[in-house]
Amino acid sequence: MSESRQHNLAIQTNTLNVNKYSEPGQDEYSTNSTNDQQTSTPTKLIKDKELKKNKITVSRNYLLMDKVELEKNGIIGWKLNLAMLLRSKAYDLLMIILIVLYTILIFIYFAFADTYFSDESNQVVFYIIELSILGIFCVEIGLHLIAFKSLYLKDFWNIFDLFIIILSLTFVLLDIFVENSVLDGILKIRGIFRLLRVFLLVRKLNTLRVKRQIQLRQLTANGYDLRSPLERVLEILNGLRDQLDIEETKIIQDLNYCIKVISSNQLYEANLDFDGQLENTKDRNEVQMLLQNYSKVANENQEQKKQRRMSKSPTIGGLNHWDDSKFQITNDKIDEMLVLNEQAKAELENLQKLEFNIFKIQDYTQQNELITVTSYILAQQNIFQTIQLQYKTFRNFISKVQSGYKDVTYHNKTHAADLSQTFYYFSHTQGLKEKCNIDDVEFFSLIVAGACHDHEHAGYNNVYLVETQDTLALRYNDVSVLENHHVASSFAIMQEPGMNILAHLSKEQYKRSRAVMIGSILGTDMSKHFSELGKFKTRVGSQEFDPSGTDKDLTLTMLFHLADISNSTKPWDICQKWIDLLFIEFFHQGDLERNRGSPISYLMDRLTVNIAKAQIGFLDVIIAPSYQAANLVIPIPSNLSNIENNKATWQTKFDEYEDQMNRDKERFKLTALKL
Ligand SMILES: [Zn+2]
Repeated sequence: MSESRQHNLAIQTNTLNVNKYSEPGQDEYSTNSTNDQQTSTPTKLIKDKELKKNKITVSRNYLLMDKVELEKNGIIGWKLNLAMLLRSKAYDLLMIILIVLYTILIFIYFAFADTYFSDESNQVVFYIIELSILGIFCVEIGLHLIAFKSLYLKDFWNIFDLFIIILSLTFVLLDIFVENSVLDGILKIRGIFRLLRVFLLVRKLNTLRVKRQIQLRQLTANGYDLRSPLERVLEILNGLRDQLDIEETKIIQDLNYCIKVISSNQLYEANLDFDGQLENTKDRNEVQMLLQNYSKVANENQEQKKQRRMSKSPTIGGLNHWDDSKFQITNDKIDEMLVLNEQAKAELENLQKLEFNIFKIQDYTQQNELITVTSYILAQQNIFQTIQLQYKTFRNFISKVQSGYKDVTYHNKTHAADLSQTFYYFSHTQGLKEKCNIDDVEFFSLIVAGACHDHEHAGYNNVYLVETQDTLALRYNDVSVLENHHVASSFAIMQEPGMNILAHLSKEQYKRSRAVMIGSILGTDMSKHFSELGKFKTRVGSQEFDPSGTDKDLTLTMLFHLADISNSTKPWDICQKWIDLLFIEFFHQGDLERNRGSPISYLMDRLTVNIAKAQIGFLDVIIAPSYQAANLVIPIPSNLSNIENNKATWQTKFDEYEDQMNRDKERFKLTALKL
């Protein structure tokens, strides 16, 4: 559809709506500020022109204003409360009852005007009732005038109502106090009065109808409901708050908090506001540091980049040369393809277990743990067969990926293999495969994603890359710099001859595979931890949680991320080894930052960080809550008990790590003296 045609349609729609809403009844055509923001500028201009053409002034009706807007219009204090009361449902109900009563009364009167009410005493009773109702209508207008002041009078129809009621009152009073003969002489009053009563009734009913219509129109200012569910939720909450009694301070405060949080667009961020949560200021600061560091985009410089250790491709000497034929490897044949010693085979028996020790495989396979683990997992599940992938292609690809990992202590090929294996444990031992209904293409993609997820990581985090304006940070606009590079560089390998592991997939399968890999790898950015965990927890807690449907990707990404940070959920020896290696890398970055004279990144200063203490905080704030949430989807009690055990063991290691820190301090002093 061409753009101009779309605009024509927009004009038609708006014209229709203007006509529909500009019937006599209440206000002028009112615009909804929220919807205005959503209206594209050209459409809005056309809309404005159309409105002018129709000579309809755009202004906001007082019935549409929220508390804040009313306050801006000078309606404050008790008048504001009165204004809110006059717009409440209870008030509308009262008016409906009155109008119904008045209608019945009028009908009775008309039916028996010449019989029952011809008797003067009966007519007086009727007049008293009618006067009371008209009096209430008068008080109602008075209250509106007090509450909404000039806003009320801006509406012509309100002035008209006032006129009719005063006229009605006058007629009733005339009828009561002036002699019939005189009246008959002045006017043909009875006929006019009957008409006026009917007219008043119609006006009153119309006022209620229009009030309802305005509320509805607020939802559909363009004839379409363009509001997001979030806006609807906000509107409901605002409405709920406005209808509450002013004394319900606690509920109003809670509702205000809900409205503030939802409007802030940081629904899933960690709560950085700990009022009353942690007594100890030190704990509070530490936890706050953890939260801040894992909920914002982090940041390298050309100078440091040069200082980075260059990658060394590990040798692939321990692996047999593969069969060149169109061989699709099966479970039994994998051992033929990978020359594995008995020790390696024995450890690979544990491939599906949490206790699996990747460091052993690293040793036993002569540094080919990534090729070995991924090939073994895929062969064990017959993936090469089911997705018709030649092992040769996979082997080309995974070898290149493995050699792309740099010789850093933590973010290396061992860690990549560890993620794939841990995810395998989640999927095939703890039931994630069934829970999320993971198909072969998806499973293959997730295992490959694990292998690629830190590809070419140089041992510096995103904060550092952004801070030092590394070429990668420039390329990826400071957003998930490393993660973007891990994905992009891995997919680049597939473009090389003989390495396209996705070439044989159908277009749909390729799309799905790529989406799974991108989603899971980008999901390993720690700055997204709290926001993603927040979404995950919200979904898991909801009755509609569907891990094999709408929540499949969210669940897979979360479990993939948890596999990435699973070190502390493994048996102590494995856990400690990983953490020591991680901190060698962290402290290396910290040293470079110190040398540059820039602020040292969180947890990376060897002169102040006690690793054991830092781990307690990390376990409490990051690991335990996320694993507890995952435990609601798949049972992972061993991970949870390891977290507790490891935490207890870290507590016994404070002194040991304090000594290590002090030794570093001494060494630093000596180096400084030498300089
Ligand atoms: Zn990782």
